[in-house]
Amino acid sequence: MGRDFAVIGLGRFGGSICRELSKEGMHVLAIDLAEDKVNEYKNIASHAVIADTTDEKVLKELGIRNFDHVIVAIGDNIQSSILTTLMLKELGIGKITVKAQNDYHEKVLNKIGADHVVHPERDMGKRIAHSMISNNILDHLELSDEYSIAEVKAGRKMSGKTLVDLDIRANYGCNVVAIKQAKHINVSPMPDEVIKHDDILIVIGADKDISRFEKHLV
Ligand code: ADP
Repeated sequence: MGRDFAVIGLGRFGGSICRELSKEGMHVLAIDLAEDKVNEYKNIASHAVIADTTDEKVLKELGIRNFDHVIVAIGDNIQSSILTTLMLKELGIGKITVKAQNDYHEKVLNKIGADHVVHPERDMGKRIAHSMISNNILDHLELSDEYSIAEVKAGRKMSGKTLVDLDIRANYGCNVVAIKQAKHINVSPMPDEVIKHDDILIVIGADKDISRFEKHLV
């Protein structure tokens, strides 16, 4: 995995990526058009520079080619985001992650070869909606249109039973990949693992199967 990151656009999303990567000890170059943003990240990122990344000459001067992973977090200016991504691609950057503003933007980014397109507002909205629909689904991560990983709070019907007793895979077609008990996470639960009320099961499967599991057993 690459260790040298460049983050273009230091709004809420890019800023948050920049902070986390820096906190994890990664080498991060933070870039923004706006001086105040760059000043804000001077002491957080390894380097922070004022630059307009829609200018190819500027990108070259920044030595962007030397970065393993570039994150394009230019917000509302879709044109700048697309142009920047296109040039990064032409410069041969190994991994480009881009924040999309809407579905059309996402489509274009995929077409021009962005390696990873993220849509944080939409995805977070979905996650929160799922956890609002059911009191027992604490979190929900979409893997594809049909498959997800969900955190399901174990209800009374599961309490005192083992994974074998419940036979979740055969009965519901989903898999329990981990069990959270208070602060402890068991990432390789054994078949004879006894589930307690309020344990949190991390379940992977088709949305319809997770929903069935959650309705029947919780
Ligand atoms: P968010 O929705 O994540 O808060 P914003 O739209 O607030 O995103 O932030 C996007 C950032 O990208 C702004 O700080 C803006 O100055 C920066 N930006 C926009 N265009 C360019 C560009 N061509 N080059 C570098 N940074 C840019």
